[in-house]
Amino acid sequence: MARYTGPSCRLCRREGKKLYLKGDRCLSEKCAVSRRPNAPGQHGASRIKVKEYGIQLREKQTAKRYYGLQEKQFKQYYIKAEKKPGITGENLLTMLETRLDNVVYRMGMASSRKEARQLVLHGHFRLNGKKVDIPSILVKPGDVISLKEGKRDSVKIKELIERCQTALVPKWLEVDRNNIVARVIAMPTRDDIDFDFNEQLIVELYSK
Ligand code: SF4
Repeated sequence: MARYTGPSCRLCRREGKKLYLKGDRCLSEKCAVSRRPNAPGQHGASRIKVKEYGIQLREKQTAKRYYGLQEKQFKQYYIKAEKKPGITGENLLTMLETRLDNVVYRMGMASSRKEARQLVLHGHFRLNGKKVDIPSILVKPGDVISLKEGKRDSVKIKELIERCQTALVPKWLEVDRNNIVARVIAMPTRDDIDFDFNEQLIVELYSK
C-alpha cells in the first residue's frame, strides 16, 4: 500500500485533533486544527451522525496516523498484541511506543516521528553500538540508542542536539544529553502514553 504523501494537517483535521505530525508548527498558532477545526473537504463543516463503526474506525485511524504507519503494518502490530498476555489495547500501544523511530522522537532528537524515521533510515543512530536503519525495530529494557559519531557536524544535527537538551523525556527512557545516548529503563506503560487514545475502540473494530 502506498504511503500517504498529501498534506499532514489534513489528517489531523480529518480526525478532529492534533496528531503532532509537523513538529514545532503543531505548537504554534499556525496549526490547521486550531485555525480550521472542521473536517477537510466540501462537506467538512456539515454535522454527520457517526455510528459505532465510524467511531471505532476514527480511533484506529488516529492511532495509525499518530505513529505514522500504514494499514498493513498497523494490523500486524494488532495481531501480535492480541497474542501477547495482558490487555490487547495496551499491548498494542506499548509496541507502537517502543518503535525505534518513536524512541528517537521521545528522546527529543526529532521534532516529529516523520523526522525521526528519516534520521533512522539515514543511519544517524546506533542501537546497542551497532548500525541500525530500520525505524520499526522494537526496543526493550536495557537497549541503548545513541547518535552516531561523525554525524554530529551538520547544521541540522546540531539543531536537533540543541532540541534534545530541553526535551521532556518519558520516565521509561533515561537520556544522557551530553552524549546523546538514551537507555530504555522500562517498558512504557499505558500511563506513560500521553495521547488521549481509546484503545478499546480499536480492539472492538478489529474483533468484528
Ligand atoms: Fe496537525 Fe501539526 Fe498540522 Fe496542527 S500543525 S494540523 S497538529 S500536523
